[in-house]
Parts: sequence; structure tokens; C-alpha cells
Amino acid sequence: MNPTNKKPAILCMFSGGIDSTGVLHELMTSDKWKDYPLIIHHIHIFNRENRARAEASAVKTILNYYKVNSDKRFLVTESTFDTMGFAGLKSARYPYDMDVCAFYGANAAVARKEIQLVAWGRTKTDVDSGGNFEARMKRMQDIFSSVWILEKEPVPKFIFPLIELTKEEIWSKLPDDVKKHVWWCRTPIYKNDKASPCQKCGTCLQVKDFING
Ligand SMILES: [Zn+2]
Repeated sequence: MNPTNKKPAILCMFSGGIDSTGVLHELMTSDKWKDYPLIIHHIHIFNRENRARAEASAVKTILNYYKVNSDKRFLVTESTFDTMGFAGLKSARYPYDMDVCAFYGANAAVARKEIQLVAWGRTKTDVDSGGNFEARMKRMQDIFSSVWILEKEPVPKFIFPLIELTKEEIWSKLPDDVKKHVWWCRTPIYKNDKASPCQKCGTCLQVKDFING
């Protein structure tokens, strides 16, 4: 192969939710990305929302689907972030998922310098949500860049392959066998080891019109 044609690697931060599954599906299936090596990273985020177990199960099953149904190869890496101890502070505040993803994603890219692109599951639904979304995005990008202060190489670029699509449009693009395993609820209810969506959290309310939960 001509080395000048070699594409940089993409890091895909993957939670098993609708948005990041949509990004993963796009990276796995689109001609645009087919020559880019893919590294997938899942963070087991343990916090008072208690979502880690439901997400881990979604991630495992969805990645197995692509191993079987796609010719594209990928490397899977994992890490753990645990703020269960914050419960004692009786605080509603604990690190935002996107900040944790920025910090861990940046460090993954520092460790694997072939990563020059980092794919995020931002959607039109996020952008249109208003509120403090822009400020949260800026903080997340600042966290990512800060990790690179000691590096000589340029900071990897962010890509948002689904920024033009709403959550509902992303959902409609996913194969049925993937939809079955995607996890979206922020505060799952566990019964006999099986997780069910709470039907009350922000994401459950967002999806109730197009997913029969
Ligand atoms: Zn929910």
C-alpha cells in the first residue's frame, strides 16, 4: 500500500445508547469511513444513575452484531469511572458523562497517536435542545484539549457524523437486530437482573413517541 494513502485512525466513544450506536453504525457501514482504522472505547460509568450494567450489556451485544455482520475490523478498549462515593455528599452534581468521555478519550488518543479523529454522538436533537448545551460542549472540548497540553502532536479533530440528524432519524437507520439491544434510559430499573427503562427520565420521554419501550 502507498503509505501516503493510509488513513488516520478514528476513536469512537461508545456507550451503547442511541446516538453513539448511530455513530458506530455510520462508521461501520458508510463508504466514507471504510478505509479508516477504528478503535472503539467504552467507559463503564458507575454513578448514582446506576446505568453501567445495562450499558455494558448493550455494548457487548451490539459489538458482537458488528463482528458477525460487518467485514470492517475494529479494536475494542474499555475503562471504568466510578463516582458512587459521591452519594455521601448528597449532591445532585457529579461529573457529566461528556466530560468523562472527553478526559478518557483524550488520554486514549495520547496513548495511540495514530488516532487523529474522535467521533462523537452529537445530534441535531442536542443542538436544538438549547439550554446550556453550547457551554457544555465548550467545557468538554476544553477538557479534551487540556489533556494534550504536554504533547507535541496536534490535538485530534472532533467529528460529528450525525450532527444533521435527529435522534428519531438515527433510530430509524439502525438495523432491527441492533435496535433490540440499544440502551437509552438514564435510570434503569433492575428486576431479576433484567433492566427496564424507567419511562420517566429525559431520554425515556424523548424517545417515547418512536420507541415502544
Ligand atoms: Zn428512563
